[in-house]
Amino acid sequence: NIILSARDLAKSYGKTAALRGVSVDIRRGEVLAIMGPSGSGKSTLLHALAGIELPDSGTVTYFGPVPADRRSAPDAAAARQLASQSGAPAPETHPRELTALSDNDRTRLRREDFGFVFQFSQLIPELTALDNIAVPLLLGGTKKRAAYATAYRWLERVGLADHAKALPGEMSGGEAQRIAIARALSPHPSILFADEPTGSLDSLNSEYVMSGLVQLAREHAMTVVLVTHEPTIAAYADREIIVRDGILEA
Ligand code: ADP
Ligand code: ADP
Repeated sequence: NIILSARDLAKSYGKTAALRGVSVDIRRGEVLAIMGPSGSGKSTLLHALAGIELPDSGTVTYFGPVPADRRSAPDAAAARQLASQSGAPAPETHPRELTALSDNDRTRLRREDFGFVFQFSQLIPELTALDNIAVPLLLGGTKKRAAYATAYRWLERVGLADHAKALPGEMSGGEAQRIAIARALSPHPSILFADEPTGSLDSLNSEYVMSGLVQLAREHAMTVVLVTHEPTIAAYADREIIVRDGILEA
């Protein structure tokens, strides 16, 4: 049961070949760690998988839920047929080739289906913790009362209910990162992409943040794709792949 399938991804920046033919299948519900030394192509791979940056060649196919505006019966049937031809995905999924979408469609899909956590929390400094979590829900069209109720539940889930009114500048790095995780998970993305999510934290905080992230993702049946160069962080994953000089290590 595959949720994301990448084939032969290649990407260069000028003369630097960041990816040189990477194929990987990501299983629905798994926590996958992308490991490798600095400069090996991990972030470039994550960006290609998430549709942030297009590869020069190769494909990324996302087997996601049937989009709301395409749930007419004939369409769903066609989607299932296409899915059964291309491999193993579950019914009620709709294969979409990310690498063939327009920029607008790819951006929309990313907003609706994917969540992101980066090395630094990137919270909005003028907004409280609770407001920061509520923003993507409000932008996604959730009504104010429901958005704040959901945001508060996620604040509780990351153990920071007492920080609802705190501003990012008043929180520690670990706390800010837990808010960023709550913000990423509250819209219930199919896939959470995390690029060195604990890269700015000390080891104790890293473990705490990662164990929380993985536990929440599992409880809510989300797939996680995690870039890290730290084996202690990768240990939280179900599976790891290693990128070296732009290719996967066998
Ligand atoms: P990692 O995440 O493993 O550290 P990256 O994917 O960030 O590796 O980078 C892979 C290679 O591509 C490195 O040599 C890096 O310097 C280069 N690179 C990445 N992004 C860019 C960019 N926007 N412009 C030029 N070179 C880049
Ligand atoms: P990471 O490895 O976690 O991506 P970096 O500091 O290597 O962190 O990269 C931060 C950003 O800069 C990324 O968006 C990456 O694509 C870009 N980048 C990385 N290397 C280069 C480079 N040599 N030239 C220009 N941009 C780069």
